[in-house]
Amino acid sequence: MNRATRKTVIAGNWKMNMTPSQTTALINEMKTTLPAEPACDVVLCVPFVDIAAAKAAAEGSVIKVGAENVHFEAKGAYTGEISAEMLVECGVEYVIVGHSERRQYFGETDETVNKRLLAGVNAGLTVILCVGEMLDERQKDITAEVVALQTKVALQGVDAEMLKKVIIAYEPVWAIGTGLTATDDQAEEVCALIRDVLAAKYGRDVAETVTIQYGGSMNAGNAQSLLSKTNVDGGLIGGASLKAADFAKIVEASNQD
Ligand code: PEP
Repeated sequence: MNRATRKTVIAGNWKMNMTPSQTTALINEMKTTLPAEPACDVVLCVPFVDIAAAKAAAEGSVIKVGAENVHFEAKGAYTGEISAEMLVECGVEYVIVGHSERRQYFGETDETVNKRLLAGVNAGLTVILCVGEMLDERQKDITAEVVALQTKVALQGVDAEMLKKVIIAYEPVWAIGTGLTATDDQAEEVCALIRDVLAAKYGRDVAETVTIQYGGSMNAGNAQSLLSKTNVDGGLIGGASLKAADFAKIVEASNQD
């Protein structure tokens, strides 16, 4: 982390877990376990149907509410989709785009990720853009190329002003939900590489202001050392964000200097 130039953000991704009543219960529990004044922004990205319950339960706490996806069109015949305007009216402040599960199971491409990112940013949402290589891409030693390309395409049409509303989450696909975590050095190396991609496009000063998270089996035990890395400015947390005590420990890990 480098708190001098950028925010640390710990965000949970609940995926397809939790009903509205379970959401209320878990957030109420988190309010008792989370530090009252965390050194980072704390976000929970929840299923669409849980947004109202999450907003109500999180009221008056440090928790901000996000969604897990957004459609790129403003309105129309897109059955099952949710627009950025709908999210904003529900009080959502953050949205994830390009999560590897969307890319793997729902045909998301770099181009549609770019369109979703633009829709989110233009509506005033802070977009958490996920990028990351598959295991075979790491084994073929093309992680840098894959992640750079994903980042560049996703940021097409995004100027420096819009970039203020973008967080990038480096999520090696082989580490998501597997219990395998990138080493601190692997996470740092790719987060630094993403920052270099940003520097080439926006200049070094702008690149230094962008929050770049690591995601992939981050947990209460490994968060502190991952977050100690200069270019790791937070975490996108799946499994551990469903446990109040574990999530609180990860947030506390961001209190280090
Ligand atoms: C994720 O869903 O983005 C994620 C990183 O999941 P997990 O922490 O469970 O690996």
